[in-house]
Amino acid sequence: MKTIKFNSKEIKLNNDYQLIIIGGGTAGATAAIAAARMEVKTLIVEKESALGGSSTLGQVTPMMPVKIEGNPNSSAINKEIKSRLKVENAGAEDSSNNDGWFNPEKLKFVLEELYLEAGGDILYESTFVDSQTSEEKIENIIIKNKSGLTAYQADYYLDCSGDAELAFSASVPMQEDKGEDYQAVSLRFTMDNIDLKKFNDFLEAKGQSRGLEYPLVETAYTGDQNSVLANLFKDAVNKGILRKEDLNYFQIFSIPGQSGKMAFNCPEIPFKVDPLDASQRTEAYIEGRKIIKRLIAFSREYFPGFEQAQLASQAELLGVRESRRIKGEYTFGLKDYQERRKFDDAVASSAYPLDVHGQELKLDKLEGGEYYQLPFRSLIPQKVTNLLVAGRHISATFSGQSAVRIQPIVMATGEAAALAVAIAVKEKKNLKEINGKEIKKIMLDWGADI
Ligand SMILES: Cc1cc2nc3c(=O)[nH]c(=O)nc-3n(C[C@H](O)[C@H](O)[C@H](O)COP(=O)(O)OP(=O)(O)OC[C@H]3O[C@@H](n4cnc5c(N)ncnc54)[C@H](O)[C@@H]3O)c2cc1C
Repeated sequence: MKTIKFNSKEIKLNNDYQLIIIGGGTAGATAAIAAARMEVKTLIVEKESALGGSSTLGQVTPMMPVKIEGNPNSSAINKEIKSRLKVENAGAEDSSNNDGWFNPEKLKFVLEELYLEAGGDILYESTFVDSQTSEEKIENIIIKNKSGLTAYQADYYLDCSGDAELAFSASVPMQEDKGEDYQAVSLRFTMDNIDLKKFNDFLEAKGQSRGLEYPLVETAYTGDQNSVLANLFKDAVNKGILRKEDLNYFQIFSIPGQSGKMAFNCPEIPFKVDPLDASQRTEAYIEGRKIIKRLIAFSREYFPGFEQAQLASQAELLGVRESRRIKGEYTFGLKDYQERRKFDDAVASSAYPLDVHGQELKLDKLEGGEYYQLPFRSLIPQKVTNLLVAGRHISATFSGQSAVRIQPIVMATGEAAALAVAIAVKEKKNLKEINGKEIKKIMLDWGADI
């Protein structure tokens, strides 16, 4: 058995893998499926007990559309995931062509099955804690789980942790701008035993028209006095069923294949939370649960169809929209959005707007077929040569990130990063030598619409 020294302890060393992915979330699971299909010997290290991250354990459903006509998909694997979800009665398309409605519980199965079918390995309940690096290379990483501490040494690494944990530990420079502050965090939950038809009829009778066909149902209240729900919320605050701060953001969606259940894209935590501060995260969970109790009482009292409804689940992961972001070879920012820039090494195309919760951005929306692209170079960290980053922590400014953080784009970054590693393995290159144009070409060959 090989061992190495870590913090003056002798610990086991595993060097069975060509690629280790930290975090099997939205980007990480897509990356892992792509890498395993390219016959890269891959291990996912995931601290939770299922794949999907924010999309499953954070209950973030549905995927937002990229808002280009026809909702093109930059990730071929995402397309395949969506078709599999539809076959399992766990995915749906709405009348505006958003085929991203899905059931987060079923997505856990689909991601795990696709990845294991491709021949990859997973370590659940395993947390990345540190890395040992030389000047420009990650030499090994340290994982903690029930087996204790173990070092893993691979040729390449992908940081898909959402918070750039591996990149940060390897001293990759990080973006310094934070906008007003980090984006607001939320703690999502679901309710079941809802008479969804009755609720849908109520919304229609009130005059809500969202262009959705039952059983796809959505409604929201974000302070807009014209909302069909505005008076209900006002009344509930007057009666003390809700507090003013519970109204920061309210949105609910039905879930394909789950009659009688709705996913709540709220509560939004009413105070600033630094997602990289353990105490503040804990406070956010505690406050979130208090608000969830009030939102349940409110929904049962005010929404026709919710009379017998009950809490079904609370998200296991706090809903973090944005935290630490790397400094990479290219930083995607406001100018790229405003000038609708296109790139030879594009990995995703989108017309999704700048989306900072709680702040009204007075910036132009894209219209009439306009779109921008995200370049592969935003995935390449400065300094370290055997690491790429995929997910919401790529190289982007605060406002740039607010546009490219949605799931379809995050999945495309995962697919692109994995393909880059596959080329590097085959051609024995470091990751800075990979040409993004080649990645784009393979993605297009696989069936992506970039
Ligand atoms: C409340 C909320 C609502 C949103 N609404 C939408 C929406 O409606 N539609 C949409 O498309 N997008 C939405 N988004 C954005 C989108 O869901 C996220 O940006 C995206 O899912 C992030 O993907 P990721 O892969 O970067 O991170 P994640 O999916 O969060 O994955 C990170 C993974 O890394 C793991 N991990 C972290 N640290 C470690 C470690 N040290 N060791 C091992 N594993 C680790 C985590 O457990 C997790 O599985 C929303 C986000 C939030 C928070």
